[in-house]
Amino acid sequence: MACVKTVSYSILINGRPSPPFSAKKGLRQGDPLSPYLFALSMEYLSRDLEELSQNPDFNFHTKCERVHLTHLMFADDLLLFCRADHSSMSKICSAIAKFSTASGLHISPEKSNIYLAGVNNEEADGLIEVCNMQLGTLPFKYLGITLSAKKLTYSQCNTIESKKAPIAWSRFYDPKSYGGWNLVNMTLWNKAAMLKLLWAIAYKSDRLWVNWVHAYYIKRLKYTTVSITANTSWLLRKIIDTRENLNLLGGWNEVSKAGKFSIKQAYKLLQGAQPSVPWKRLICNNHASPKSKFIVWLAIHNRLATTDRLIKWNVPCRATCSLCDRDDESVQHLFFACAYSASIWRMVCQIICITSSGDTFDQECAKAIAKARGSTRQARIYTMCFSESIYAVWGQRNNKIFNGKCLDSSQVVKDIIFRVEPVLLSSAH
Ligand SMILES: [Zn+2]
Repeated sequence: MACVKTVSYSILINGRPSPPFSAKKGLRQGDPLSPYLFALSMEYLSRDLEELSQNPDFNFHTKCERVHLTHLMFADDLLLFCRADHSSMSKICSAIAKFSTASGLHISPEKSNIYLAGVNNEEADGLIEVCNMQLGTLPFKYLGITLSAKKLTYSQCNTIESKKAPIAWSRFYDPKSYGGWNLVNMTLWNKAAMLKLLWAIAYKSDRLWVNWVHAYYIKRLKYTTVSITANTSWLLRKIIDTRENLNLLGGWNEVSKAGKFSIKQAYKLLQGAQPSVPWKRLICNNHASPKSKFIVWLAIHNRLATTDRLIKWNVPCRATCSLCDRDDESVQHLFFACAYSASIWRMVCQIICITSSGDTFDQECAKAIAKARGSTRQARIYTMCFSESIYAVWGQRNNKIFNGKCLDSSQVVKDIIFRVEPVLLSSAH
């Protein structure tokens, strides 16, 4: 411990080292050396606790004996385990006291807790007195995560407030080539991550927790056949249950590469294959802004909140298109049958030297999809203009409904061209 307790500093003054002076306080918080020094110091305590486990007056915690576990350290936190009896507790406490005297490091009682199980109140009071710590209860939060011996309840997890999506969430998770947005489906990702834990049970015998699972649950059996009993904890039951998913995916070979488990690979397999959609390139091979591509995507699915759909949901609203005040509003009308939007699309087409023939939305989409397959500058400009025009019209429609005004169509065209300009001005190739 001398190396920790006899720190002295010397400062370079005008290039010459000053005479060394000793430090009143140890390390400053955030000093990159501190984790190493901490590990060195704790080694002292580790060895003492190791010795303790040989002492006949010390009893392991019932679920720790088979793996000879007395303590775990994580960063600067320390977890100690023993049987809830007076003798074992006082042995642990004297090991800590010895360590404190040697190192100068002290346990802060207000930040420490004792967790007890299987003892009556009287015994508990006695044990709390021995260690001079407050009694803690499960569940509690550690590094922001709720730790519990049981399955967490809904209210114990801080869930994000869910909002009604314009389209089934499952569509967002699909890969882009299948017409989705390639968002991570956390339910499936969790299943894949659980498989990684099963993989650890199967192949990572050097891990302490895996050893522990084998010592107390699987014993001499195999993880593939071990039966889940009432004694099995909720968490372990869930991990063992993923055997079924593994069988569905076709075994470890399917989800590992070069002897390593791949969550990504497992996730992909769990997602399964879907038919690819004809308009995938309009979304993937399109240089328009992501928000405009998103609106195009919703329009293609007919999922924009147009008044024809709102009326179907019994939302009170005026059916007539607010932009032209003539026909009823629908995706087909807005893009670009509406007089207002048709003039916008006509002007945009003129600027990029394409003749617009007043087609329906489906025909316009088919044209844009065909263009999106190409890689020419002109094709790129076309798909960008198409997406940005749809986005701009939708924006003006919302502006009219919610703010009572919309821009003049020629101003909207200017805005669309401004967005496409970087590609328009780039040299032809
Ligand atoms: Zn209209």
